[in-house]
Amino acid sequence: SCDIKGSRIKLLDESTINKIAAGEVIERPASVVKELIENSIDAHATDVRVEIGGYGTKSIHVIDNGKGMSHTDASMAFKKHATSKINSIEDLDNILTMGFRGEALASIASVARVELVTRQEGEIEGTKVVVDTSGIKNITSTGAAVGTSILVNDLFYSTPARRKYLKSARTELAHIIDVVSRNALSHPDVSFTLVIDGKVNLRSPSSVKMLDSIVHLYGADVARSLVPLEYESDLLIISGYVSKPEFTRSGKDFQVFFINGRPIYSNQLSNAVRLGYYTLLPKGRYPAAFLNFMINPVNVDVNVHPAKREVRLSHEKEIGVMIVAAVEEALAKTSLVPEVQLDK
Ligand code: ADP
Ligand code: MG
Repeated sequence: SCDIKGSRIKLLDESTINKIAAGEVIERPASVVKELIENSIDAHATDVRVEIGGYGTKSIHVIDNGKGMSHTDASMAFKKHATSKINSIEDLDNILTMGFRGEALASIASVARVELVTRQEGEIEGTKVVVDTSGIKNITSTGAAVGTSILVNDLFYSTPARRKYLKSARTELAHIIDVVSRNALSHPDVSFTLVIDGKVNLRSPSSVKMLDSIVHLYGADVARSLVPLEYESDLLIISGYVSKPEFTRSGKDFQVFFINGRPIYSNQLSNAVRLGYYTLLPKGRYPAAFLNFMINPVNVDVNVHPAKREVRLSHEKEIGVMIVAAVEEALAKTSLVPEVQLDK
């Protein structure tokens, strides 16, 4: 049904563009939780509460006590590429905030109904913004606590195909719990509460010690199995914990890596850690590892994935070798590493 001579190429309208882009950032309810928590952390919140209704498809409510937004910023926040965190591409070389793409709120609002309530310190009134897939519905002044509350209702109501591809409630909730745990662990100075259908699922009071957070989030059993790991070179500083060889998991669910405070997934880091155990781990089993990597931001490219889940590292090889050495050293320090049995 195309014209033979006429034009077939046309520019997509803004709402279609946003829906397509949202697919890259907002894959599932846990993606919304991740983006909202990161914004709370960037706003210097010390207390973040996450309330989930259904398994996130009904409602996701994130409330923080961060610095809040002005009336003007609140009305700008849902625009695509609206960010207060960078001004130019050069800023990415030294990025310390979790966000910078200015896409999250725009993406969320293009696939859900959203209510933002926020107030900045020093302002008498707060602002309420109601948005849905057709845009901003209204902006009003309202009384509010200092900080920001974002309520996301009916996720993917406008994109049934996406909704259909969600996994079971159990799986989606597991992803949400994982996201909250990882962020809680990488920001021990922030207290997190996760409430699912009115019941407290996780509570991580702010604490200075990573080990205390591990006990709260992953349980005492794993915490008891850990040995400390500290490593320093001119390229990076690694600190955290790895499990003794006798504690293993069938997956990598107890591996949390963060680079300069940003939780990331990295097969590269995970493989290097496993290599440090040599033959001590049975096939198909993985150690627990909770490790923070401090690397000069110039050597980390965080902008390779829209959800910023993966990063690209310069000096990949050297870093791999250092991780192997660091794990080796940590395990060697415990007398609990079983001695190699030769006659078996
Ligand atoms: P980004 O985080 O990449 O800047 P977002 O779409 O996630 O983009 O957020 C857009 C802007 O809205 C942020 O840059 C910030 O100024 C503001 N904002 C979002 N969430 C919060 C929050 N919880 N507290 C204060 N400001 C926020
Ligand atoms: Mg953000």
